[in-house]
This record gives sequence, C-alpha cells and structure tokens, in this order.
Amino acid sequence: MIVCHDIHKHFGGFHAVDGVSLTIPAGAITGLIGPNGAGKSTLFNVIAGVHRPTSGTVTMAGEDITGLPPHQLFARGLLRTFQIAHEFSSMSVLENLMMVPGGQSGETLWNTWVHRRRIEREEEGLRAKAQDVLEFLGLAHVREERAGNLSGGQKKLLELGRTMMVDARIVFLDEVGAGVNRTLLRTIGDAIVRLNKERGYTFCVIEHDMDFIARLCDSVIVMAQGKVLAQGAPADIVRDERVIEAYLGT
Ligand code: ADP
Ligand code: MG
Repeated sequence: MIVCHDIHKHFGGFHAVDGVSLTIPAGAITGLIGPNGAGKSTLFNVIAGVHRPTSGTVTMAGEDITGLPPHQLFARGLLRTFQIAHEFSSMSVLENLMMVPGGQSGETLWNTWVHRRRIEREEEGLRAKAQDVLEFLGLAHVREERAGNLSGGQKKLLELGRTMMVDARIVFLDEVGAGVNRTLLRTIGDAIVRLNKERGYTFCVIEHDMDFIARLCDSVIVMAQGKVLAQGAPADIVRDERVIEAYLGT
C-alpha cells in the first residue's frame, strides 16, 4: 500500500532518516522497531505529511503522495493518530468521536461552529457511527465521560476510535502502548487485530514492547541510525544478529 523510495530527512546537517526504502503491504500489520533516535517517528511524520522529506518519494497504492499535507492524506484514508489535544479533553468521549469526520485538526472545531446547521443534519448519522465505534472498542460505558478523565489505555482506545469515524485505509500508530499497563496493552492490541481482520485496516505500528510486536505483526522493519537494518517475520527478526547488535550498541 505504501512504498517509500530512498527517503532522506535532514535537520540541518543531521540525517534523521538516511535513505530509507521500504514497502508497507496492504492488509497487514507491519511493525517498525529500532533503538531510540533511529528515525522511526521522523519517517512516520514524513509519510503522514507532517514533515516534507529532504528527498525521496512516498507512494500510496501507486500514487505519489510525497509532501501532501495531513488533511489531504486524511481524505485518502491515511491516518496518523495524535494524542487527544488539550482542548478536547473537556468534551465527552462521544463528542470527541462525533467531531472527527472532515479533518483531524482544530479546523474541525471551527467547522462545528461555522456550519452548525449542516452539522446538525449530519449529527444523527454521526451519533450512530460513534455508538458503533464505542461498542466495538468496549468504551460504550464511558461515552458521556469527559475524555480528560479516561485512563491512559482508554485514551489510546479513543485515539484508535477516532480513526474509525472516517474511512481509514492505513493507520500509523507511534508508541500507542507507551505508559500503558499490560492488560490495557493487550486490549489495544486486540482492537488493532480486530480492526485489521474485521474492517480491513492496514497498520504500521511503532512499539518498544517486543511481545506486543511479535503477537501483532505479520512483518517487522528494523531501523537504526536513520537506515533500514532488516525486515522480516517477528520470529526471525529477534534472532537477527544485526538487530541484536543495534540494540546492544546503544
Ligand atoms: P525515534 O522515533 O526512532 O526514537 P526520531 O525520529 O524521533 O527517532 O528522531 C531521530 C533523530 O532525529 C533524533 O536524533 C532526533 O533528535 C532527531 N530529530 C527528530 N526531530 C527533529 C527535529 N524536528 N529537529 C532536529 N532534530 C530532530
Ligand atoms: Mg519516536
């Protein structure tokens, strides 16, 4: 689904991503791992339109998407989850979902005010969709709770839920399990697998927890120092000497 060809991203003289070529296959869950500072988040941000690459190309289903802004990628079904922004934390879980379609930025909030009447007409459909998402994720019992009051894991599920309000095709998750306890990590993992199997989402996930990666991913890409070191099945990756060395070397 996504093909990166020779991506470079330089910050001044520093090569955060240094010639990455890789393929993220449609319909799969692909893991992206590597030591801190390997360039994983930077690569995600290049693919998701947050950063323009210094050079190189990104294609999605054969179309060049290099440098497209996030809202255009969003419209094509390419989503990167973001933490629930401060301004949304006082809104209910349900409201957080209902304001997603149409964009992922503060623009959405603006549209809610400006196009109040249009929104009202769409509201019933959105409400039904949000309810479906809440049930899918097991969050129906907290639908009226302020998003800011959710536990860390529930917030992560809500972030995932926001991707379900639009027609997502590929979702990029950057350390979705960070700071989440084992039980919730498992719940998040289950939701990812079900979205993949039942709703056809393609995923690319950055995660440090190797058990999580091994359980979820069809294949794993390893980055170190801005380059791709290896790609393969989780079981082979953990035995790869270059991979072991990259982790031990930091
Ligand atoms: P990872 O996600 O693999 O831990 P990052 O992609 O966040 O790594 O960072 C890779 C390297 O690029 C790090 O050394 C980081 O300090 C540097 N870096 C990331 N973003 C910027 C930026 N906006 N400006 C300067 N350096 C950056
Ligand atoms: Mg990172």
